Formats: sequence, structure tokens, C-alpha cells
Amino acid sequence: MIHYSCDRCRRTIEPDQELRYSVNIKIEVALDTIEFESEEDRDHLIELNEILERLDESERQEISQSAYRTRKFDLCSDCHREYIQNPLAIDNAVKLGFSQN
Ligand SMILES: [Zn+2]
Repeated sequence: MIHYSCDRCRRTIEPDQELRYSVNIKIEVALDTIEFESEEDRDHLIELNEILERLDESERQEISQSAYRTRKFDLCSDCHREYIQNPLAIDNAVKLGFSQN
């Protein structure tokens, strides 16, 4: 039997006693500015490639790692309830005026 634990509070989740929530986060660089509609746009893409080629290996790796990333988390019902209220983990101090109800 597969055992799940909450990735937030580390508590073991008993699937026959409570709900387990699976959170999938997909992060990708939004390349809205790159389109293939005109020759000019294609030139920009070539330019981007040239910029990438000039970077050293570690910088290139950093960009490709941040360009597309998926994360998967298991949450218990308590943590799910809290996560859904603040999915970006915004500091309470920043949330001034935001209703906590
Ligand atoms: Zn939890």
C-alpha cells in the first residue's frame, strides 16, 4: 500500500480516513513577444539564440531550468484549506485589506 504524506506539514495522510489533495504547479516563461508572424519577429528569435549562445554553460542551464518547471505536491485537507487561500504564499503583511474570512 502506498503511503502519502503531506508535503506541507509532513503528516501522514490516511487515504481511507481523509481526502488527499494533489497540487500540480506548472511554471513556464511566457514568451508572448516571440511570434512567427513576420520576418522582423524571426530576426528577434535569431537574436535571442545568439544571446543564448554567448552565455556560458551554467547561465544557459539556469535559463532552461527556469523556462519550464512542474512541481507536484500532496496536501492533507488542513493544508489544502490554507494553501488555497494563499497559493502564492504572500506574506500577511502584504495582504493588507484582504479579508481573512
Ligand atoms: Zn498538511
